[in-house]
Amino acid sequence: MSIKFLRQQFLLLITGVFLVFVLLACQRAPIAESPTPTATPVTERTIANNQLPVAYPDKELSASPAQLSELPYADNALEKAIDAETMKLHHDRHHAAYVNNLNEALQKYPELKNRSVEAMLRDLNSIPEDIRQTVRNNGGGHLNHTIFWQLMSPDGGGQPTGEIAQQINQTFGSFDAFRKQFNEAGGDRFGSGWVWLVRNGQNQLQIVTTPNQDNPITDGLYPIMGNDVWEHAYYLRYQNRRAEYLNNWWNVVNWPEINRRLQAASRQQS
Ligand code: MN
Repeated sequence: MSIKFLRQQFLLLITGVFLVFVLLACQRAPIAESPTPTATPVTERTIANNQLPVAYPDKELSASPAQLSELPYADNALEKAIDAETMKLHHDRHHAAYVNNLNEALQKYPELKNRSVEAMLRDLNSIPEDIRQTVRNNGGGHLNHTIFWQLMSPDGGGQPTGEIAQQINQTFGSFDAFRKQFNEAGGDRFGSGWVWLVRNGQNQLQIVTTPNQDNPITDGLYPIMGNDVWEHAYYLRYQNRRAEYLNNWWNVVNWPEINRRLQAASRQQS
């Protein structure tokens, strides 16, 4: 290659880069000058009773496509209750499968992808019958586990704090009484399912259980906290001793997050 050829190539490259910059500058200018759209914070929006974000404080779960978020801590961070291998399998295999199965089911009905996972679960009758059960199981599995990971923390455990502590005392008499009732409900849930503390339509705290991957929002209840009592959640360490798992789980319960969810649930009532 001659020097002249190289110089030509170099000049072409410089000209190309310059043109790209000019193009970008032209495109960005009007955007930069336009007022930044201000999204109304969730707290300030008037939200109907059943339209509050459930998965996260400020957003619902997307279905376009549904995505698996990282765990908010290391696999071995919750050893006080759950071993690392269980956490890894539970998140990387079980939760991932719910996400994949949901996306696969929605391939046939692309218009549904515009709705959030919560919106679909609140109105299952609006889902085409041939994928309704799949959406129920896997959309529910995605939502339940997304909530579940946030409800636990390496710094968790101990006595409840803040507003939830007061409300538990008012409703159940004491934290010990509440814990006992919650554990019993989880133990009594036959087969696979979840035990929940919910806020019901009468603005009261209530312990309920759901089968399979059903989420309380399908019944118009707001999930404040919940524990997974599927065998996949505890079997490696606890084998058939679900009661022991339920008992140890309180060592990782994330009370600040539960208080945040309680506040969200209260906002929907006011
Ligand atoms: Mn699970």
